[in-house]
Amino acid sequence: MRKSFILLSAIAGLTMVGCNSVSDYKQAEDTINYNDLERYIDDLSDDLYGGRKPFSPEEKLTVDYIAAEFKRIGLEPANNGSYFQEVPMVQVNAKVSDKMVVNLGKESIELVKADEFTAFSRRLVKDNGVENNELVFAGFGVVAPEYNWNDYQNIDVKGKTVVVLVNDPGFYTKKEGFFNGSAMTYYGRWKYKFEEAARQGAAGCIIIHATDAAGYPWGVVRNGLFVPKLYLNSPTNYMERCQLESWWTGDAANKVFAKLGYTVDQLIDMSLKPDFKPFDMNAKVSVSIENSMSQNSSKNVMALLPGTDKADECIIYTGHWDHLGRGPKINGDSIYNGASDNAAAVAWVLEIAEAFKSLKKAPSRSVLFISVTAEEGGLMGSEYYCQNPIFPVEKTVAAFNTDVILFLGKFKDVTVTGFGQSELDDCLAEVAKDHNRYVMADQEPENGMYYRSDHFSFAKVGIPALFAKGYNHVDGQTKEWTKEKISEYWKNTYHKPSDEYVPERDNLDGLVEDSKLMFDLGYRLANSNQFPKWKTGSEFKAIREKK
Ligand SMILES: [Zn+2]
Repeated sequence: MRKSFILLSAIAGLTMVGCNSVSDYKQAEDTINYNDLERYIDDLSDDLYGGRKPFSPEEKLTVDYIAAEFKRIGLEPANNGSYFQEVPMVQVNAKVSDKMVVNLGKESIELVKADEFTAFSRRLVKDNGVENNELVFAGFGVVAPEYNWNDYQNIDVKGKTVVVLVNDPGFYTKKEGFFNGSAMTYYGRWKYKFEEAARQGAAGCIIIHATDAAGYPWGVVRNGLFVPKLYLNSPTNYMERCQLESWWTGDAANKVFAKLGYTVDQLIDMSLKPDFKPFDMNAKVSVSIENSMSQNSSKNVMALLPGTDKADECIIYTGHWDHLGRGPKINGDSIYNGASDNAAAVAWVLEIAEAFKSLKKAPSRSVLFISVTAEEGGLMGSEYYCQNPIFPVEKTVAAFNTDVILFLGKFKDVTVTGFGQSELDDCLAEVAKDHNRYVMADQEPENGMYYRSDHFSFAKVGIPALFAKGYNHVDGQTKEWTKEKISEYWKNTYHKPSDEYVPERDNLDGLVEDSKLMFDLGYRLANSNQFPKWKTGSEFKAIREKK
């Protein structure tokens, strides 16, 4: 049975909701409207904003725009009198050799940059890469004691380069309860694989790409070669990381492994066997990477609505303002405008902020609105906030995030990415019912989307975080129709210059409804005493309960 949340009952039949009369609540909700959302999206995804890349000349334009809107709405600056939180970062431009050479003794294979491999190093020093470095195949590159799994057992990879498969064993076996079945765990993420290889003392780590297992096509990995990388500042200069963090295409991997008598499919089968052992590839790899670094700081933009009697507790809304800036031309266009990703989420934050501010009486708990920076580079603005929060983590009740909004009209569903993680799912289900919508789980949990946007930064420090939006079921259309549109988006629009807002094509009714729904949920929670918890089995539960 579903656990019932006594947040606040449905509006019907009541004269008061929280501390406001029904009509006052309605009037605040009505400030959420199509025209406002459209104006924000149209403005922020205009070429004038140059794709909103942190450190670009257009950064100031973007953050000033958001701060000015918070001010116009009448919300307080959240950070000691300022709407901004400085996020100190370092930008790394990498010069990578055109070829990666794999020396197999009698012969060698030259892989072509961008078409067959990518290479970086996170180390903040000039010379990186590897030369004639021994290659070891290390299965999935995973050490997961809770699943009794250790790909690095019985092999010393210190100073060597490991080659690993993308995603986790659960993806391939689909066994329920084993690495979460087909849903991606953190063990399946590329980030984890690079981190684990570094913990093992490896000099390099190469991930074999596969579109279905990674959750995105090669183009997404490839594009990463052409844009500067951003990292939070680190006292260690990331010297604990590998000298080489790299990807091969599936074809490139097949080319190399063919010489050893394997296909990638065979490697997958072998790696899934309980008696799998990593093996020396009797091959050596060379590639050079020259990093040039520049220090800079970007900004999170933050506004606050102080609570009344529980002002020390807070609810957070986030939507990243940054996107990819300028990049390789596609169909003559080099500006990656990021309308769906994520001008629409900034609009969502601003509209919800305005609704909260329009309430006759502010809710009992405080509400914090953050448009974070550098999500695209690796969730850095949100990570920085979580390390330097305005409200203590244990007083932060929940974080709501949104990202990648489809402009397809109204949705029947509210899709929860990372469904089953926290009791926020149950709170949402209760509220969604009042909005004539139903909650469903992310249909492609194997993509690991829960680990790929800003809510994850909050989850990592234990704050229950929800990423929910209309996605899978457009009102008046079949799910199959919607599915087709979703796949078109990921194929043709995601992280491309064509992620633009076209008024005559796009329909923001869904975003209007999402904003009203998430305003309602936040409002009820901001007037409640409840601290929704992580569910049993969530990897974040222990972190929260330690606090
Ligand atoms: Zn995004």
